[in-house]
Amino acid sequence: MSVHYEVRGACAVIALDNPPVNSFGFQLRVDVMAAIDRVEADAAVKAVVLTGSGRAFSGGADITEFSAGTAMDEPNLPALIARIEALQKPVVAAVNGAALGGGCEFALGCHYRVGVAGLQIGLPEVNLGILPGAGGTQRLPRLIGAASALDMIVSGKPMKSEAIAKLGFFDRIVEGDVVAAAVQFAEEILAKGGQCPRLCERSVDPASMPGGAEAFFAAARTKIAAASQNFPSPLKCLEAVEASVSQPFEQGMQTELKLVTWLMATTESRALVHAFFAERAANKIADVADDIALRPMKSAAVIGAGTMGGGIAMALINAGIPVTLLEVKQDALERGLGVIRKNYENSAKKGRMTEAQVEQRMGLITPTLAYTDLAQADIVIEAVFEDMGVKEKVFKTLDEVMKPGAILASNTSMLDLNKIASFVKRPQDVIGTHFFSPANVMRLLEIVRGKATAPDVLATTMQLSRKIGKVGVVAGVCDGFIGNRMIEQYFRQAYFLCDEGALPKQVDAALEAWGMSMGPFRMLDMAGLDVSWSVRKRRYVEMPEMKYSGWVDRICELGRFGQKTNAGFYRYEAGNRNALPDPIVEDLVLAYSQEQGITRRAISDEEIVQRCIYALINEGAHILEEGIAARASDIDVVYLTGYAFPSFRGGPMFYADTVGLAKVVDSMRQFAQNPLADSKFWQPAALLTKLAAAGKTFN
Ligand code: NAD
Repeated sequence: MSVHYEVRGACAVIALDNPPVNSFGFQLRVDVMAAIDRVEADAAVKAVVLTGSGRAFSGGADITEFSAGTAMDEPNLPALIARIEALQKPVVAAVNGAALGGGCEFALGCHYRVGVAGLQIGLPEVNLGILPGAGGTQRLPRLIGAASALDMIVSGKPMKSEAIAKLGFFDRIVEGDVVAAAVQFAEEILAKGGQCPRLCERSVDPASMPGGAEAFFAAARTKIAAASQNFPSPLKCLEAVEASVSQPFEQGMQTELKLVTWLMATTESRALVHAFFAERAANKIADVADDIALRPMKSAAVIGAGTMGGGIAMALINAGIPVTLLEVKQDALERGLGVIRKNYENSAKKGRMTEAQVEQRMGLITPTLAYTDLAQADIVIEAVFEDMGVKEKVFKTLDEVMKPGAILASNTSMLDLNKIASFVKRPQDVIGTHFFSPANVMRLLEIVRGKATAPDVLATTMQLSRKIGKVGVVAGVCDGFIGNRMIEQYFRQAYFLCDEGALPKQVDAALEAWGMSMGPFRMLDMAGLDVSWSVRKRRYVEMPEMKYSGWVDRICELGRFGQKTNAGFYRYEAGNRNALPDPIVEDLVLAYSQEQGITRRAISDEEIVQRCIYALINEGAHILEEGIAARASDIDVVYLTGYAFPSFRGGPMFYADTVGLAKVVDSMRQFAQNPLADSKFWQPAALLTKLAAAGKTFN
């Protein structure tokens, strides 16, 4: 039974019990309906208190239901809420924990709301590309006014209960036992005659629309349209809220239903729902049991206090894990600590933390030059220079000093993790933790599984990633793992496009208009061109068959390494990150084409986008067929969280599914016909061809 029913005096207390967050799945809806039947049948029950068991009031609808794209089985949530609202006995929501989405809408269907401070109340549906579809857009404006409701619904951001109480959401905020307080509140209502105020019978307060409804919604529409390009849901939220003012309640509910049904079918919403489930799926490692015993994780050590080591240390201490930070030399250590302190002080200046918190965080770092100080750490993460010789020395020392069972992690981007594991006598304890820069900010963590990595090391590292607020994705060992291996093909294609007729600014503009937050050339300039140059130099020796366009090295040979030298594919004015097209680069590209005997042609933005994105997709397919990624959705998570891939497109593999794999393969075959093309480049991966031929998808 997913509800508990209890009678206290004249009051029935109905508690939702559907762990972990009392989401309104089918069974819970049926059980609440049955509890309402009981209330109606029992003349001794004069009032009802609805609450949640456990820590949540309710986290809302069961997303697995609506992601199926079909209507909810009866009774659906709007019908359940309407039934509660129509009850002739006063109903009090005892909001004991977070009330989100459908949970918040459920509370709005009650006649009264009693809550405690510190709860999250909100309607986050817009984050999944939809809108509150169980009356939220109609009842909330009637309760807290149009402007505040619109803000909440369009932003999707939950509010603290004490803040929303000021807007009139709660009838009473109490301390302590909220259910007992709600029962007492219900008794007071009964003593006063047992009124059942229904939001559906109210209208929206005109004073909540400054300048009048028409002007208010017109201004809001302009603002929302400008901020929500590529996302249809915010404007539809506005339409729904507008209906709460311009239409009677029942008609407004029909409008809400029509709009939410339309939104659910959009690619954007399907992409956002896909991303939501993909992140959860990434946590699961097929051959590691969910209940495997984890290793302890109370303290950490980081080796190297450079760009990555500093960021990794911050990510750990932000989660309250003390870090011992080791460097080779005192000055490097001090420099690293100085950068960390400056980052925290900048946050304090912006009001994101107090000075005391800065000191508290800095206090969690123990700087050292001595390996013996690391010995007791539960995990040590190495972030020294990307050089196998240096890594070898570090891991051999770690093998000598670290306590048995400590996890030995490397932040290498490109080096062979199995080789690194071979330097120690405990390869089962070695794992890759590939953070993205800046490591204290970026959500992605590629967790690299070596051939000897023990299952509990993998599971413990996955849990650590959650603890420090990262999204962990498991990758197998290969050059570049998932993300960087794919991006290399995307970059190669961007370079080739310039050989044939495009310029960096056009390639970037086309991909940015498509949704990438930064085009490839701007991205390369930000990362530093020396990094990609060193990769290419290695390729020239190790994989001579992988062809690169020749003009790119010439940029590096000019000492142009991107933003850090104020010049790369673009030029930069000191202290400014605005990428300015540079005639030197454009002349260099044109000269290269001429030298190669290429007659430059106009290249369409569509061709640019297809060639770059299909390059990603094809490499993603190789990565899947080789088992480097366990699922297509893991690749999507990597791109959405680590490479600013547009969320409304759902990640490269999901995007390929929406285009249709057969169409992707056809386009690739056409690109191969181009006499300038590297025909090997456009050979579709076997998995892609197979799925396309069978009319299947990656996800
Ligand atoms: P960095 O040059 O900024 O920092 C490296 C630090 O390691 C320096 O402070 C150096 O003094 C220290 N160091 C060198 N040898 C050492 C030793 N034997 N013992 C202790 N400290 C030592 O480099 P980074 O960009 O932070 O990169 C570190 C690692 O992270 C590399 O493996 C790199 O491939 C990887 N990585 C870098 C990025 C990035 O964007 N920079 C992203 C992901 C992974």
